[in-house]
Amino acid sequence: MNAQAPQPRQRDAIDYAAFRRELVAFVEANCPPGLREIVRSNQKIGREEYAAWQRILHQRGWSAPNWPVEHGGTGWDLQQRYLFEEVAAELDCPPLYHHGLGHIGPVIMHFGTPEQKARFLPRIVDGSEWWCQGYSEPGAGSDLASLKTAARRDGDDYVINGQKIWTSHAHEADIMYTLVRTSNEGRKQAGITLLLIPLDLPGIRIRPIHTIDQWHHVNEVFLDDVRVPAANRLGQEGDGWKCAKFLLDRERLSPAMVPRLIRQLQQVEELIHSRIRADGPSPTLHRALERLFLAQASAMGAREMLLSAIQEEMNGTLRSSKSSALKLHYTELSQQISGLAYDLVAPRYASRLLPQVPAADGADDRDIERQLLHTYLFYRSRTIAGGTSEVQKNVIARDLFGG
Ligand SMILES: Cc1cc2nc3c(=O)[nH]c(=O)nc-3n(C[C@H](O)[C@H](O)[C@H](O)COP(=O)(O)OP(=O)(O)OC[C@H]3O[C@@H](n4cnc5c(N)ncnc54)[C@H](O)[C@@H]3O)c2cc1C
Repeated sequence: MNAQAPQPRQRDAIDYAAFRRELVAFVEANCPPGLREIVRSNQKIGREEYAAWQRILHQRGWSAPNWPVEHGGTGWDLQQRYLFEEVAAELDCPPLYHHGLGHIGPVIMHFGTPEQKARFLPRIVDGSEWWCQGYSEPGAGSDLASLKTAARRDGDDYVINGQKIWTSHAHEADIMYTLVRTSNEGRKQAGITLLLIPLDLPGIRIRPIHTIDQWHHVNEVFLDDVRVPAANRLGQEGDGWKCAKFLLDRERLSPAMVPRLIRQLQQVEELIHSRIRADGPSPTLHRALERLFLAQASAMGAREMLLSAIQEEMNGTLRSSKSSALKLHYTELSQQISGLAYDLVAPRYASRLLPQVPAADGADDRDIERQLLHTYLFYRSRTIAGGTSEVQKNVIARDLFGG
């Protein structure tokens, strides 16, 4: 934690307009223009870009907006947290890397031992250690509790054998928070344990999966006789399901997502108006404007849902159905927005769409229209990753109607 981090203040003492101006001034003075250009033009962001911005924020004490001060966070209230995400999106800063700050960090704070908190949390806040999520397996996605990757206790270690799949960022990460099976007795949920597995251990092999957008986001991770110290177990043996659910509620909340969608809507709006200026009004462009207005209204709804979910999370009353409803809403909205952009720009690229996404030799990576096509392809995965839309509907129905 560094000296410049603001102390939590009374809510009524905060001048939010001044706070917003402070954020804007900070971004304009400190976020490198090259980084902002990469984000603005929807190019791929990897560890290097995320980490560069996180280091800058850390210097200012702002690298963990959603964390309490005692763990190196800002202690900001709801409005400040939302303003931070809003300004970051409007000014094209990279988002904060979610696996550490948004996912496993809060789980370690809640379930970790003092030693685990001291070992892992500071390196999440300063961005020096990078995490990925080893939940899904070839036979366990929506039905996550069917996972089979086995952990056998051997002295002070667990010995792990199995396979994970769709592991985002495993090729860039240092540690994988991993659900493993420690027992086959009783309910399948009861035999699951959460282990923190360093990815440089012997017996780990990472193989890339290239998705429809032709980028490398996800991987298969193979674990053959990997020895992990039992001290890397989070919670008690068999507590993994409880930790996993706690984490998934926060994963689905994703506070940065809605402001980023609102920023994309601005880009699409600019695109439509530039077409109207260039070609004159047309029925096609009028239909595009109608779709834009509907998406804008939907985004305002998503914003209200997000604010209320963040408030519940801060009060400790967040329900799974709220995070699931929010995830369902913003992922489907993100597909509407990218679908609208696709319909506007695809004809220009139709005959050479796939070879041109991402940039082929000589193509300009800053070409925003081509990047919008890439976003369209990438966003197909939004309603799958983090739990499919059908699974979110099941969570909502169970919470509302029981069962
Ligand atoms: C880009 C991307 C990134 C990902 N990143 C990660 C990651 O970092 N770590 C990780 O662990 N996982 C990750 N995943 C995996 C993701 O969580 C799973 O793909 C997802 O949970 C679905 O599981 P599945 O692929 O096995 O599909 P399945 O569970 O086999 O589902 C197939 C279809 O059946 C439907 N279905 C299944 N069960 C039900 C039901 N009970 N009711 C109604 N419909 C149902 C589903 O909705 C889906 O349409 C990622 C996936 C993608 C696409």
